[in-house]
Amino acid sequence: MSTPVKLTFAAPRRGKPPRHFADLSVDERKEAMRELGQPSFRAKQLATHYFDHLSVDPEQMTDLPAGARDELVEALFPPLMSPVRSLEADKGATRKTLWSLHDGVKVESVLMKYPERATLCVTSQAGCGMACPFCATGQMGLTRNLSAAEIIEQVRLAARSARDGELGEEVRLSNVVFMGMGEPLANYKAVLTAVRTLVAPEPEGFGLSARHVTVSTVGLVPAIDKLAKEGIPVTLAVSLHAPDDELRDELVPINTRWKVDEVLDAARRYFDATGRRVSIEYALIRDMNDHAHRADLLGEKLMERGTGWVHVNPIPLNPTPGSKWTASDPAVEDEFVRRLRAHGVPTTIRDTRGSDIDGACGQLAITEEDK
Ligand code: SAH
Repeated sequence: MSTPVKLTFAAPRRGKPPRHFADLSVDERKEAMRELGQPSFRAKQLATHYFDHLSVDPEQMTDLPAGARDELVEALFPPLMSPVRSLEADKGATRKTLWSLHDGVKVESVLMKYPERATLCVTSQAGCGMACPFCATGQMGLTRNLSAAEIIEQVRLAARSARDGELGEEVRLSNVVFMGMGEPLANYKAVLTAVRTLVAPEPEGFGLSARHVTVSTVGLVPAIDKLAKEGIPVTLAVSLHAPDDELRDELVPINTRWKVDEVLDAARRYFDATGRRVSIEYALIRDMNDHAHRADLLGEKLMERGTGWVHVNPIPLNPTPGSKWTASDPAVEDEFVRRLRAHGVPTTIRDTRGSDIDGACGQLAITEEDK
């Protein structure tokens, strides 16, 4: 008698994406050349095509022997993602792209053009496990971590679009913010490999300035301390959203593990180690966290840790489907900013891009129809 098939509705364990050149350190790239029977200097030639020319097209690799190009590209540049669709906002200056990864998992990234430069908001995880109730990605749960190369490929493809004028004019991708889907410090190893590659000088990497790379976190204290010791002075952004534990326990559930004071102490240590001014992110939610007394408490908590080490970026909440919350009144927002400044805390409202294409902060989510 045969046993009935057991149906499984839960997501299966995911296979790893294929190994890619962008997963490898400079030494590992040379090692890969040896494995493929090539001289080690080819690693630098390939890196130039990838990071400098932003190309994986064997036809363009005319400095490589014709007979080796296809094999090298096949072995080291497997396709990791393909665009499913793009949406534009802000008269073409903001573009959100939905990508399908090798296993069909979908993620989004958002490219924003400013005068003479562009910023990419990258995704570090498919979904997110941090469960912040006001964030669309937080409602999805975590599907899987992205590999370093899956993060780097988002950057290469965006840099190529920016360079080729797809945002209306030709601009250089100069800034990368880890503010897409996921909690970057919960995927530490891949994110750090990606960060190293972003800031490595060309042709070993993209040659971005570390200060133009921002890692945003809900506040995983041990990982913040680890990042501080890596010797890469990237900008740290901490998603605080409340200055008191009672409210933050609800808004940023990881707060039940690491409290507001612990997170702020870690942020201050990050500044001490790197000299980079930390950004405090604060989504202003009407009647939830936008009270004058909370502005005062935040101002006090930051100033008691010193001056010149921090600034606050309030952002009006971008509404997410099914959420009862909405953005603060402009007058309330103004008062919140005024009070923080009165305490001596530099404060700038963050501009919101792409909210009409659900591409703004906290709006990235994969809908049922896209799965
Ligand atoms: N997990 C990381 C990075 C991704 S979110 C983090 O939380 O920092 C990037 C920023 O968008 C964070 O500051 C996050 O708190 C904020 N955010 C999330 N949902 C939002 C919303 N609905 N409106 C405005 N900002 C939001």
